[in-house]
Amino acid sequence: MADSKVGKTFEQIREKIDRGDVVILTAQEICDRVRKGEIPTLHDIDVVTTATSALMSGTFAVLSFKVSEPDTFTKAARVWINGVPAQVGPCPNERIGILDLIVFGTEQSVSDPGYGAGDLFRDLVAGNKVKVKIETDEGQNLTCFTTLKQIPHAMLHASRNAFKNYLAFVNPGKASISTIFHSDKMKGNYEEMTFCGCGELNPLKNDPELKTIGMGTKVLINGAQGFVTGPGTRSSADHPNLSGVADMHQMKPEFMGGFKTGHGHDIITTWAVAIPVLDMDMLTHILKTDDDIPLKVVDVRSRKPIFEITYGDVWNKNTENGVETDNRVEFNWKTCLKCDDCPVEKSCPVKAVHSDPDGNVVHFDRSKCFNCGLCVSICKGNSFLSNMSSIELDGVEHKVPVTLRQSNRATALKAAQDLKKQIQKGVFKITKPVGKISFPD
Ligand code: SF4
Ligand code: SF4
Repeated sequence: MADSKVGKTFEQIREKIDRGDVVILTAQEICDRVRKGEIPTLHDIDVVTTATSALMSGTFAVLSFKVSEPDTFTKAARVWINGVPAQVGPCPNERIGILDLIVFGTEQSVSDPGYGAGDLFRDLVAGNKVKVKIETDEGQNLTCFTTLKQIPHAMLHASRNAFKNYLAFVNPGKASISTIFHSDKMKGNYEEMTFCGCGELNPLKNDPELKTIGMGTKVLINGAQGFVTGPGTRSSADHPNLSGVADMHQMKPEFMGGFKTGHGHDIITTWAVAIPVLDMDMLTHILKTDDDIPLKVVDVRSRKPIFEITYGDVWNKNTENGVETDNRVEFNWKTCLKCDDCPVEKSCPVKAVHSDPDGNVVHFDRSKCFNCGLCVSICKGNSFLSNMSSIELDGVEHKVPVTLRQSNRATALKAAQDLKKQIQKGVFKITKPVGKISFPD
């Protein structure tokens, strides 16, 4: 009988995939087994599929496409797509009628404050027509329309993505404040908590020593096969993150979009990463569940840590009514009061809720909903349902309710499941890194 502690090589795991006898589990499937008291061994798992779906500000698109016949204008000086400003360059565009553009994921439309670059990227990936407005260096104004199919080069780049989990935020002050960590004002006196991070599903939590994630590792970014290109900006040993790139033509809109915060637009991006389980050290990390993963609670004003809880407190906890926290949010239209000025429609950070102009029906777009949970606390009819957590913090007299999640674990799980199926079908080939990533201490 083989020793259950002896590791495997990349090549051996790839051979098992080719033979069709590989064991692939999502990180959640493994952690569910651990919660039931099982202790999986190296024999029981060959590959774990992990994922994270969250606001990832360090995301930008590089687009290159034809906007006119040559010599129609000399140079584009400023460009907007659906009102979202694009940086012209880095390549010159003199007289050729082709533009190279960079669009930052945090940009906001100049014509619609509710529309940002994340919405634009989702519209492009969904095949929607977008309006391109050009101001030339000679003061001409040109307009044209395009779709992603007519944009031959459309690559999404990640300069700071897939953090190894993140932080929770509270406001100990008296006054409410606006912040990127809330979509409205964050109330003071510890009245609420927001957080980011997918806990046990997170790629870097499952391979923190970066034995299988490195430069050139193939990943899924918004459902498209892409690659890790190196460490992300501001990476540190405590808060590592990754950079990467993928082709927008292969992406799926359900994994991406815009998200309005209290301090401007942010962008939703989803990564899925396959981790071959090579040795016992790796397995030890993989078997850690939400309860074993620390989550620092910081003062949103200073970002100083003031408490420490775990991801088990926010994702996997029995709530007061004896039910586990929900990853998803559901809408019960039967209890909707059809309020005159629906606060959910006003505040939903992804615009998943709309009322009819006559106010008779409230529509909930399930495919757009990020499951952030903000609507659960602000809906007047309690029509949005999700068991969100309430946290006890030392010295705070009341339990602090989680009111907003800036990570979407339901979508991350879907991404991890999709990746598992793609490896099983041979559509996604796991790759060995071509270079090692290290993070400064
Ligand atoms: S606040 Fe809630 S109950 Fe009122 S209209 Fe909006 S969804 Fe319906
Ligand atoms: S959970 Fe509610 S507030 Fe959040 S995205 Fe979905 S509908 Fe909007």
